[in-house]
Amino acid sequence: MKQIIKKIIPGAYHQKIKRWGLRFFYYGNRYHCNVCQSHIRKWLPLGYDLPVLVEKQIVGAGLREALCPVCGSSDRIRLLFHFLKTQTEIFDKKLKLLHIAPEPSLQFLFEHLQNIDYLSADLDPDGVMMQMDITKIPFPDNHFDAIICNHVLEHIPDDQKAMSELYRVLNTAGWAVLQVPFSKILKTTFEDAAVTSPQEREKVFGQTDHVRIYGLDYASRLKTAGFKVSRYQWSEDSSLKELGKKMKLNADEPVFFCSK
Ligand SMILES: [Zn+2]
Repeated sequence: MKQIIKKIIPGAYHQKIKRWGLRFFYYGNRYHCNVCQSHIRKWLPLGYDLPVLVEKQIVGAGLREALCPVCGSSDRIRLLFHFLKTQTEIFDKKLKLLHIAPEPSLQFLFEHLQNIDYLSADLDPDGVMMQMDITKIPFPDNHFDAIICNHVLEHIPDDQKAMSELYRVLNTAGWAVLQVPFSKILKTTFEDAAVTSPQEREKVFGQTDHVRIYGLDYASRLKTAGFKVSRYQWSEDSSLKELGKKMKLNADEPVFFCSK
């Protein structure tokens, strides 16, 4: 049946009809998703209930009810979207954007924005425009006006090389948002090269394919690659308290905003 519907109704319309149905089903006044502009009564569960995530107080991971039932955006995507909308010119200015490991709900939006020259990329070529290893980015220096690369660096053994590459291809007047999950209590990033199997990695780092847990020194690591880093902490702005609740943002989560 699904296949027949897909044949009769082209992809984009199919997506729109599906969203319309979900919007109707989950309708409510309690919450609002700023990514898909839906008013909803509840969020769906998201993340994993692992002891290491609780023990190390990882921001940006762990089991919580924070997934939009309509567009699939998480709390961190809603924060990112709020940040991009209020603190950058991504929706107005003509810019060349590199989006690594694109979040589907954001990819859906960026692909349709006329002002953006958009390139999505990932090591896994499924669903992106280009296969790319970000420790060897096949573009010249200063090529992109903006880079979004979230929850990727914690998967890469040589993260300093990846950070240097992102820095190299960023325009001198450009900006990058490079989010990672990090521990609120670890002063320094924890790595252990002896932990290699998926089972061990899940136990020690909180996910089968993570190779470290970033600590409070994450911004310093970005600075080592050359970036200037500013932290946008939405919860320190009292005027955003109600909005933050409505969108169910994580009060501990900052945006790491990087420039050259
Ligand atoms: Zn949504």
